[in-house]
Amino acid sequence: MSLIVAKFGGTSLASPDRIQMVAQRLVALKQAENEVVAVVSAMGKTTDELVSLARALNTDPPAREMDRLLSTGEQISMTLLAMALSARGYKAMSFTGRQAGIETDGIHEKAKIVKVNTKRIRKALSQGYIPVIAGFQGIDQNGDITTLGRGGSDTTAVAIAWGIEADACEIYSDVDGVYTADPRVAPRARKLAAINYDDMLELSSVGAGVLQMRAVEFARKYKVVIHARSAFSDAPGTYIKEATPKMEEAVITGIAHDTSEVKVTIRGVPDMTGVAAKVFSALANSMVNTDMIIQNISEDGITDISFTCPDADLKRAQETVIKVLPEIGAREYDIDEDIAKVSIVGTGMKSSPGVAAKMFKALGDNEINILAISTSPIRLSVVVDGAQTAAAVRCLHTAFDLDADSVFKETQLSAEELAAKMEKGR
Ligand code: ADP
Ligand code: ASP
Ligand code: MG
Repeated sequence: MSLIVAKFGGTSLASPDRIQMVAQRLVALKQAENEVVAVVSAMGKTTDELVSLARALNTDPPAREMDRLLSTGEQISMTLLAMALSARGYKAMSFTGRQAGIETDGIHEKAKIVKVNTKRIRKALSQGYIPVIAGFQGIDQNGDITTLGRGGSDTTAVAIAWGIEADACEIYSDVDGVYTADPRVAPRARKLAAINYDDMLELSSVGAGVLQMRAVEFARKYKVVIHARSAFSDAPGTYIKEATPKMEEAVITGIAHDTSEVKVTIRGVPDMTGVAAKVFSALANSMVNTDMIIQNISEDGITDISFTCPDADLKRAQETVIKVLPEIGAREYDIDEDIAKVSIVGTGMKSSPGVAAKMFKALGDNEINILAISTSPIRLSVVVDGAQTAAAVRCLHTAFDLDADSVFKETQLSAEELAAKMEKGR
C-alpha cells in the first residue's frame, strides 16, 4: 500500500464530466489499495475570471481582498470533487488551505509556506476518508487567507506530500510530463523521462509554466520526488528528482519562454557615476523586480539604460521612472510591452564551452535580433521581439539537437472518448 498525493489542475477539473473523471482516477487508486490525498486547482479558467471581476471594480484591488476572492475558486472544486467521490460510495472530505494546516507568511498574492500541520489530514486518512484539499491557499499569522502565487496548487501538493510523508507526489495536468520546450510552441518537443531539480527550477523560473517554481524549490529542499503526468492518460510522465548518473546527459535540457515581461528604456541619460544606482534604488524602493539590465555605450557623455521587469510591475516602474527622470537629467523613456525572454537551460552547460556562440548563431541565422542577454551558470537568456517568440524557441530547439522525430499530440480526450471512459469506469 502506498500513500499518494494526487494534484489536479484547472483543465482536468473544468466541467462536471472532467471532475467525474478525476473522481474515477482517485477511486482506481483506492481500489489498488493505496491511500490517497487529492489536491485541486480551481475549475478551468475560474481564477482568471475572478481576477477580471475584481479588476472591473478596482484597477488595483487590495491584496488581502484579492486573496480572499481567489481562494474561493479552489473551494468550489474541492467540494464538488468530494461530492463526486461520495456519489461513488467513497468517503471523502474537503479541506480549505487553513483546514489542511497550510500556514504561510503574510505576503498576500505570493505567500510562502512556513509550516504544514497535517494532523487533520492524517486523521481523515486514518478514518478511511479521501481528503480533498483546496490548493493555492493558506492562512497567515493574523488568520487571514493568503494565496501562493499563480500555479500555487503545485506547491500545496508538494508541501502536503512532504508533510504526510507520502510515497508519491503526482501532479496531473493537460500535458503528459515535462517537455524539452512548451509543446504548444515547439511541436517537436520531447518528453523527458526525468529531470533534475536544478534544471527544473531554472526552467520554471524562466517561464516553463508546467510546474510552479516554488513547488520545485520546496521539492528540492525536502527531497520530494514529483511525478508530472497527464490527467487524461495512464502513460508515465516525468520524474523531477535529484540528478543521478543515469539521467540523460544533454548539454541543454530544455528551453523556456516568457512573454510576461516588459522592457523600459530611459533615453538621454548623462553617463555619470551614481546614475544607475539612483535609478535602480528608486525601482527597488517601489518594489519593482528588475530582471535584465542593459546600458549602451555612451556617445558624447550621453547613454541609454534599459531594464526588463514583470508586466505586473509596469505601473510602479513607470511612476518611478517619471519621478527619477528629472533627478538624473535624462531626456525621455519608452516602454516595449511586446517582448519575450527565451532561455536555454542545462546543468550540462557548466562543462561545455561554446553554448552562447551556438545560441547566438542560431538566432542570427534565423534573423532574430537579440535585445538583451543574461546568464546564470546553467542558463542563457535572450530578449527578443514578441512576434519572434515561437521562431526563437523552435530554432534553438533544433540547433541544440532536441527535436523529436514525431510531432506533439494532445492527450486531451474528445467528448466521445471521455464519455466512453466514464461509462467503463462506472
Ligand atoms: P495545470 O492547470 O494543470 O496546473 P498548467 O497549465 O499550469 O496546468 O501547466 C501545463 C501547461 O504547461 C501545458 O499545457 C503547457 O502548454 C505548458 N508548458 C510550458 N512549458 C512546458 C514544458 N516544458 N513541458 C510541458 N508543458 C509545458
Ligand atoms: N487556480 C490558481 C491559478 O490559476 C492556482 C493553480 O491553478 O495552481 O493560478
Ligand atoms: Mg499549473
